[in-house]
Amino acid sequence: MSFSDSLRLDGRRALVTGASRGIGRAIAEAFADAGADVALVARTVTDLETVAAAVESRGRRAVVLPLDVRDVAAVEGAVAKAGEALGGLDILVNNAGVYFHTTVDDLTPDQFQLVLDVNLRAAVFAMQAARPLMRACGGGVVINISSVAADKGSPNVYGASKAALESFTRSADRDWATENIRCVAIAPGMIDTDMEAEFLADPARIDPIIATTARRRVAQPIEVAAAAVFLASQAADFVSGTVLDVDGGRSAHY
Ligand code: NAP
Repeated sequence: MSFSDSLRLDGRRALVTGASRGIGRAIAEAFADAGADVALVARTVTDLETVAAAVESRGRRAVVLPLDVRDVAAVEGAVAKAGEALGGLDILVNNAGVYFHTTVDDLTPDQFQLVLDVNLRAAVFAMQAARPLMRACGGGVVINISSVAADKGSPNVYGASKAALESFTRSADRDWATENIRCVAIAPGMIDTDMEAEFLADPARIDPIIATTARRRVAQPIEVAAAAVFLASQAADFVSGTVLDVDGGRSAHY
């Protein structure tokens, strides 16, 4: 296999959560560009249908699976449906996530539960459901979308949810290594999406972030998607149980 072929995902079958917009949408479309068929999970069916059309316009198959990832049974059912519709599952991207601009003191039990349910619990049980499908395909790759907040913390429980997700990524990578299932995470810095729209529009909040980012800018979702394509590919076969920072050097300098 040539090096450029080792970066392709031709014929691979992927499921991406949070695929209706932002980073998840960019990953779904980049996977299709790289040759993969993609099952798309989020709550907003109209947005998923738009992304499905974008995947199909690249000549790949798309499966729309609208659901709330807080419903673990629905997540497990979606993994099974993706496997049936696509004829197997090689790649799982746990990208659906929520963030609250609260403080540690103001955090409520309901907010705590929501953040942990979406950012951690859904990913854990999607992985559990995907494992037998990947094993049946001879192996697979799990990519969990974390955040620089996993290391730096955040003024709420978001950072803790991402730190736990990174730890679980390492646990699964170790346990499933014998089945040729690699588990990795990506920790993005500041990315231009709806999640950060309010933050990005406020110079008092965004300027200090840019000042402590070596690249001196925020990034576009495709820059996270580029890392996801690499990590999902054969070229990343020796990248296992680790976290890739896509943060413009913020972790290195802040
Ligand atoms: P976004 O634009 O707000 O998109 C979030 C995605 O998650 C949407 O597709 C949303 O779809 C889905 N989602 C949220 N709650 C859901 C639920 N209960 N059930 C199903 N789907 C749900 O956010 P983003 O910036 O692309 O973030 C994607 C991931 O990157 C998240 O895990 C986030 O923590 C992480 N991240 C982002 C940044 C950044 O700067 N943007 C930085 C570090 C890490 P629906 O609303 O249609 O359900």
